[in-house]
Amino acid sequence: MGAMSAHGSEAEHESLIKVDILPGKGRGLVATTPIAFGTTIFAEVPYLKLEDNFAKLNPPAANALLAQQLRDLDKEDQRSFLQLRNFFPGLYPLLGTFGSNALQIHDSMHAIFRHATLINHDCIPNARYFWDKDTGRQVVRSLRRIDKDEEITVAYIMRGTRAERREMFKTRYGFECTCALCSAPAEVVEQSDARQAIIRKHDALVDSDRIKTNPVACMKSCRHLAYAVKQEYKADKGQSRLYQPFEEAMDTCGRHGDRARVVMFAKLAVASLQLCFGYDHKRTSRVRRLAMHPDTMEGFGTHSMDWETWPHEIPENLGGSQFDEWLWRAGEWAVPVMVKVDDEEWIATCKRLFLKEGWEPDADGSDA
Ligand SMILES: [Zn+2]
Repeated sequence: MGAMSAHGSEAEHESLIKVDILPGKGRGLVATTPIAFGTTIFAEVPYLKLEDNFAKLNPPAANALLAQQLRDLDKEDQRSFLQLRNFFPGLYPLLGTFGSNALQIHDSMHAIFRHATLINHDCIPNARYFWDKDTGRQVVRSLRRIDKDEEITVAYIMRGTRAERREMFKTRYGFECTCALCSAPAEVVEQSDARQAIIRKHDALVDSDRIKTNPVACMKSCRHLAYAVKQEYKADKGQSRLYQPFEEAMDTCGRHGDRARVVMFAKLAVASLQLCFGYDHKRTSRVRRLAMHPDTMEGFGTHSMDWETWPHEIPENLGGSQFDEWLWRAGEWAVPVMVKVDDEEWIATCKRLFLKEGWEPDADGSDA
């Protein structure tokens, strides 16, 4: 466990997964042993990459470039690549296969991996992956416990109602998703679509401009997102996505001088970041530090100090819904909203975090 396994050897990750043929899906990855949640299942370097945005490349040139790279690979990787599905058959088969399977690892770089490329999609996946620039590896992490022989899945598409996802799968990946959510009864899909609409709406609502001009609306939207995510991704209690609303709420509060809420949201975000990226990842470490030293947040107080608080002002004696209301500044939302606490566990987590761990004042005595 921990940082060492993130850089695990081939032998190590092959002990957790194997390539298997799955009915109706072709190749996929399967767990060879039970995998605990928050485990780095494996991390690997790509064997093929295009350094430019392949969609904009001149097709014959890109195809030739791939042919050249392919020649230099060992037989196993060559065979593996040529067995991948090509959703864009035509004049440039290598480019078509690359485009059908490559993962974006950078703004303008796509790559093919021996194992990560073979992971199939699920709308409620049991794993996620990300490109770790520092180690030059694609890191695959479990979002919940995965049983022996269970398929490892990730979400290729993170957003959208079922109809929108279907359309994207068809045009971008050439398959039809048959995951539990996509094939659920209409009523379940309807509820999921409503949550997906909230999630989608949030992305359009919260940006750096609105954090400056309408921070209260941003807080409201972050809370809606947090609750929608918790409901939608029940399998991991929303932890696979909660870092987004928490980090954004933290940023919003910090930019207006609210240290108490930076501390709270940082603590809440850490749980999710730890699951998604690992304890030692830069992003997790940064937010963990902010839970101790909110003033060191980049951009702290840059928009205003209108919300100025100190960490010791985190209320300790509020009941569930009142604490929730305080946390999200619900009392200031333009439209009065009944804060319905539908999740006692959520509130308990919030309270446990600040009551147990407490805030440690800065060495410079800024707790004064
Ligand atoms: Zn699906």
